[in-house]
Amino acid sequence: MTIVHSLQALRKALSGVPAHHPSVAFVPTMGALHHGHISLVAAARQLSPTVVVSIFVNPTQFNDPADFARYPKSLEQDIDMLEAAGTHLLFLPEVATLYPQGTQHLPAYPLGRLEELLEGLHRPGHFQGVCQVVHRLLEAVQPGQLLLGAKDYQQCMVIRQLLQHTTLPTQLHIVPTMREADGLAMSSRNRRLSADGRRQAASIYRTLQWIDNQWPHQPAAVLESEASRQLLAAGFDSVDYISICHAHTLEPLLQADANEPAVVLVAAFLEGVRLIDNLPLGQRPA
Ligand code: AMP
Repeated sequence: MTIVHSLQALRKALSGVPAHHPSVAFVPTMGALHHGHISLVAAARQLSPTVVVSIFVNPTQFNDPADFARYPKSLEQDIDMLEAAGTHLLFLPEVATLYPQGTQHLPAYPLGRLEELLEGLHRPGHFQGVCQVVHRLLEAVQPGQLLLGAKDYQQCMVIRQLLQHTTLPTQLHIVPTMREADGLAMSSRNRRLSADGRRQAASIYRTLQWIDNQWPHQPAAVLESEASRQLLAAGFDSVDYISICHAHTLEPLLQADANEPAVVLVAAFLEGVRLIDNLPLGQRPA
């Protein structure tokens, strides 16, 4: 695995490949890697002979500076995991490499309703920051394929919109969420939980599954308030949202309608750690 830090070294390492050629697949990450990230690398290897991964904790997408400051870091272990997974090129930029003019007064991206709903509402500016960094990374790596995790469902939709807006010829692939044995979605943030918190955290997935079992036989509002009660009873400190939404627009689905594709999305705090998860509804095997 080749490791590069500068844009020049990155371009040199990819100099034999035309821009946006399908033979280059790209997996952007913020490090503190786990098997969920590695499943993206594995999917990238199935698509393309050259797999590029970036590790960059992007300051512009953290609306809470304390969250940015305590974001977990494990670079040596990350490098070992990426090497073992068959990554070809690891890009490790500095903040000044991606933001040579600084991180203030950056251009805004047109994200419409996606910025007003769910994560957009609860983390103001977050998706602007995600677009700023992903746009810069895509311009730097120029991949034909981009792999993102379904764990960050709304982020996938935001990046789909970014690709349309920028007309970058990169194909987006969404990789299913990797879960621990008890159903908890793998996340770098899980390592901030105590042993008790880690056990309690699994109730987030059980609650999503409970909604999946009830839908569409009960109104969304009833399911959402009962699910929120279940999470608080299981030890969560607070629930930002648990919302049954249209799977494409993310607008709340008020009426149960088996014909509309639906997804339930949740964000909740446990031991001060903000966990998110989601589950498409009605897709269980018959
Ligand atoms: P992050 O390092 O949190 O920015 O995540 C980098 C990429 O890994 C994003 O596309 C995430 O959606 C994806 N990812 C994070 N956790 C998981 C998971 N449990 N399963 C699959 N993909 C994941």
